[in-house]
Amino acid sequence: MSVIFTRMREFKGIPASPGIAIHHAFAHYADSVPVPRYSVPESEVENEWHRYQSAVERAASEIRGIKETLGPSHSDQHLLLDAQLLMLHDPEMNEQIKKTLPETLLNVEWILSEYIERMVNILEASGDEYLAERSLDILDVSRRITNQLLYRERLSLALIDKEVVLVSPNLMPSETIMLDPEKVRGIALDAGGRTSHTAILARSLGIPAVLGLRNICRGIKPDELIIIDGNRGIVTVDPDEETLLRYRRKLKELEKRETQLSGLRNLPAETTDGRRISLMANIEIPEEIESVITSNAQGVGLFRSEFLFMNPRELPDEDRQYRAYVQVLEAMGDKPVTIRTLDVGGDKLLPSMDWSDEKNPLLGWRAIRFCLEEEEIFRTQLRAMLRASAHGNLRIMFPLISNAGELDAALGILEEERRDLAACGTPMAENLPIGIMIEVPSAVLISDILALKADFFSIGTNDLIQYTMAVDRGNEKIAPLYQPYHPALWRLIKMTVDNGKDAGIAVGLCGEVASDPASAVLLMALGLDELSMGAFSIPPVKRIIRSVSAGEASAVLEKVMTMATSEEVESYLHGWLGEKFDDQE
Ligand code: PEP
Ligand code: MG
Repeated sequence: MSVIFTRMREFKGIPASPGIAIHHAFAHYADSVPVPRYSVPESEVENEWHRYQSAVERAASEIRGIKETLGPSHSDQHLLLDAQLLMLHDPEMNEQIKKTLPETLLNVEWILSEYIERMVNILEASGDEYLAERSLDILDVSRRITNQLLYRERLSLALIDKEVVLVSPNLMPSETIMLDPEKVRGIALDAGGRTSHTAILARSLGIPAVLGLRNICRGIKPDELIIIDGNRGIVTVDPDEETLLRYRRKLKELEKRETQLSGLRNLPAETTDGRRISLMANIEIPEEIESVITSNAQGVGLFRSEFLFMNPRELPDEDRQYRAYVQVLEAMGDKPVTIRTLDVGGDKLLPSMDWSDEKNPLLGWRAIRFCLEEEEIFRTQLRAMLRASAHGNLRIMFPLISNAGELDAALGILEEERRDLAACGTPMAENLPIGIMIEVPSAVLISDILALKADFFSIGTNDLIQYTMAVDRGNEKIAPLYQPYHPALWRLIKMTVDNGKDAGIAVGLCGEVASDPASAVLLMALGLDELSMGAFSIPPVKRIIRSVSAGEASAVLEKVMTMATSEEVESYLHGWLGEKFDDQE
């Protein structure tokens, strides 16, 4: 038997956008050519400054050109490009460059690169993931200017004319929005995290992506075959025959399963004996609404409105927010759209505000706590929502309620804004349900009291697990302690549902737990009315719901509620699911 020499390499990164892609690498290092450094005579300083100014103007018209090509429907992308236009004309940056020119007598592209390096170092040293990721935008702007100064052709990723996996040290947001998802089938980057604009855009474009790979660029040759596993965050370079076959099979299965599942599109999420549950979608940006409609979700169970606020320079004004909310409401027609008020702080810091005092951000100034203090920001958002309510079936939801006083205060402010708008004759929905997220153990423990004040509950298990088990949800070192099957979680969910039901209000769940098919069965048996998840998770969850009876689901739940550990629950549920569906992974 001959020995086959294999050069297969596997890289583990952050699963940033789901799906599998198998294609040859397209290595994108267009900007890695070094910036030149040379002396400029004193007599040329003025000319050098004009050279810089005209490069800035050319870079600005390049951005305006991209905006025109995109057309008006890409509001989020326009927001990014507007932010870049502002950065290009940043008075502080331009002042510094103008001042440094006569001091150093060096060429302006070198001065710019040094200035940008200092800025990026400051942001990256901030220890703040969000700020560190914003350095990408700054680098993007500086590269645009440098390319103009050097008349260097920027490789247009929009011109890629064959199916590839794009491999790059990093990808700027403005580059990501130019990608054609029919050509760029996968993305593998050394840099980036789940909250970067690049990850958000990859998900909304439906391109499987693994980010934060650290050294994938050093580990590949151009045109090598690459497998992107966006579900598990694994990239395999130059796979051996066996791995390739395995992934090809997986891809075929995924495609087959997707086709089978699309047959469920118009069927309800209903058990074999007629118990129904509503499956809704979570979105971050209005553009995701297309995939929500494709999935035939029964509504939007969570619109994380904070992603509209991530512009590095300014907060969205009332009209901009109003337009974004109306866009989603109108697209969904009669179906409910649940917009959560601003949930910033913790791991989602607004770049336009100072967070340096936060010693313990996850237990700190976030969500409703922030809004009740930054009242003008809160009132502006509520006004935009109230005005938008005339255009569809809106529900408003407050995040991170931890005591009844917070809910009273938020409801009081909402009522004041509603009264003011009504006094001006502003059209608004007559029936506007106001709910809260249950994601702190204290809220669960007083859910009987909160249920008398709120129109609905939505359980946020992502945070509820974090706060119940005292485990930072983003810390990979303690990831095994973050246990979605922990018996404590199931008791807390049960208590919330029971208290909500006793008070006669609807109870939904919008954390990641909802997208786990086995958990979805338990949640249905617990009596939840609604489960909200990423649109792509709806078909597999619906399939499981449609294949069990309410009686069987209750029996599984009863058993699970007696178990002592997360491991026990997990292995029992997976065993049960495996027996039911032999195609489970
Ligand atoms: C949650 O905490 O479960 C939730 C849905 O909110 P987020 O993930 O935005 O914190
Ligand atoms: Mg949350």
